[in-house]
Amino acid sequence: MQYSQTLLDDIRAAVDIVDLVSRFVNLRKAGSHWKGLCPFHAEKTPSFTVNPQKGIFHCFGCGVGGDAFGFVMRQDRLSFPEAVRALAKSVGIALPEERGAQSGDSGREELLRVMDLAGRFYADTLWKPAGERARAYLGERGIDIGIARHFGLGYAPEGWESLLTFMKTEKVPEEALIATGLAVARENRAGAYDRFRGRLLFPIRDLQGRVVAFGGRGFGDEQPKYLNSPETPLYTKGNLLYAADLARPAIQSQNRALLVEGYVDCIMAHQHGFTGTVAALGTAFTPAQLALLRRYCDEVVTFFDADAAGQKAAARAEELLEPTGRGMAWAVNRSGAFEGAGALRVKVALLPAGHDPDTFLRTVGREAFTERIAAARSILSYSLDRALTDPDGATGPRARTTAFARVALLLAKVADGDEAAALSREAAAKLGVDPTQLWIEAQRLQSSLRTPPAQSQPSPPASMPSVERDLVALLLYSAEARGALLGLLGESDELGHASLRAIVDALKHRPDATAESLMPDLPTDEARSVLSSLLVEDRESVDARVSIGQFQRRLERSQRLRRAREVSQAIADVQAKTGVAAPMHAELRTLHKESAVVYEITGGVAQSLEHGTSASPRSSDE
Ligand SMILES: [Zn+2]
Repeated sequence: MQYSQTLLDDIRAAVDIVDLVSRFVNLRKAGSHWKGLCPFHAEKTPSFTVNPQKGIFHCFGCGVGGDAFGFVMRQDRLSFPEAVRALAKSVGIALPEERGAQSGDSGREELLRVMDLAGRFYADTLWKPAGERARAYLGERGIDIGIARHFGLGYAPEGWESLLTFMKTEKVPEEALIATGLAVARENRAGAYDRFRGRLLFPIRDLQGRVVAFGGRGFGDEQPKYLNSPETPLYTKGNLLYAADLARPAIQSQNRALLVEGYVDCIMAHQHGFTGTVAALGTAFTPAQLALLRRYCDEVVTFFDADAAGQKAAARAEELLEPTGRGMAWAVNRSGAFEGAGALRVKVALLPAGHDPDTFLRTVGREAFTERIAAARSILSYSLDRALTDPDGATGPRARTTAFARVALLLAKVADGDEAAALSREAAAKLGVDPTQLWIEAQRLQSSLRTPPAQSQPSPPASMPSVERDLVALLLYSAEARGALLGLLGESDELGHASLRAIVDALKHRPDATAESLMPDLPTDEARSVLSSLLVEDRESVDARVSIGQFQRRLERSQRLRRAREVSQAIADVQAKTGVAAPMHAELRTLHKESAVVYEITGGVAQSLEHGTSASPRSSDE
């Protein structure tokens, strides 16, 4: 099964490589990277690096590296297609073979196009006369026109076939509309009807900003109040966060995300300048959603109404701390000790009873909201309070022993060292016990949760000429370099190193690909490792233009030298075949003409070679 680049890119974008690797390696954050002990060779100081932005790993000790696919292949000893299937499944992306034979992988791109068209249709309708009711609703909710446009809000007009009719003019088949969940097939007769009718629509986009689903709000007594797209090949519930595409830059620069529940909460937060806000698209935050946030920040602040806070926080904390089948090691690092973690910190900001971020921002205001965020407390601290309290209100020595056990178990699951230490001090004081005692018990529990990492033999890194390495790095980082140099690189001898050659070959096939998306194009593990080593370097491109010029001259020269060698060899071959005295064949005449170039080169006219000889014949048999 050949998988398309779009599909592989989508899977790669959806997989959190830090989470994936954390199931086997105890990772610690180091700047924009994560570091840990290499699972593929024995070492005492961490040289295994994960770069979440690029989605790659690399070990400076044994030289192995790759992307998420490569990690799974190596760790679980899977073939490439098996790794693709495993990861696609883990992030809820449907593969073409699972979607039935008739809709191929190209179906995914078609579905994205349909969603894009629908997004535009609905957004246009909102600002037309038909959208009056929806615009009035925006006014009631205090949503500015500018922010409504920024979020691409739309209006699904009344009537059963508004979207269907529009899509007919765009030549979109009905099946595609049904597959995206925009239309519903009729039960008793042929045909379909619009799913969204007379509703304000919130487009839900993936991290690449592509519309993959809609949430629709009714204005009156329509049931349900919120109607969402069903799960489709593009959209899996619980895997995305609303506005993640818009909020990502602010989340990264502030190293913090604000997590709210509703669409309007989220929009209102953006409108008040809290642009690092996302919404959970449902009542519960899923571990997958938090894992997604962990790629971009260290801290998440969520908001609870004061009345419900304790209970909700405890419930959430339990969800988040329980390792699931998908290995949510972001919260619980099962392979390591307390000290080795860098988990996402989840905090709770309390709002007065009866408030949500939307009402609070509109009635109390931006500054008070900022204060609430600043005063946010760890979700675990709320959870701890509950663990300390006997559910039946019992007190006395027995109740204290159970509370001790509950707290120790909670602490055992906390991966963040500082957080765990602070919590154990807090709990020990409240329980009237020695913090060390609590700590020892927690560690004992934690080691029983731990799984040992796999070990295997490393292969020694192959030595590589630094000029070649620099050239390939330049090609990976600079589109301009690709344009100028790829054509000059022949099939054979400019690059002596097989893996570098493989990377260049992959680039030749897909010169527009991002460097990290070339991983699956590479034929060997070694080549993938070399690519990851070039990607983790974070090269400041010194002056690409100067380097490009230098390599250009160098490659042109070596191209001519190679051609010259070929021509002399060909002349020698022909002479050997025909005898020196034989008449001049046309072939030989051509070769002699070309040998003028040979002469020029061997005569060392370097200066003239760096210009003008583009007229030199390029062989047709190359
Ligand atoms: Zn290693």
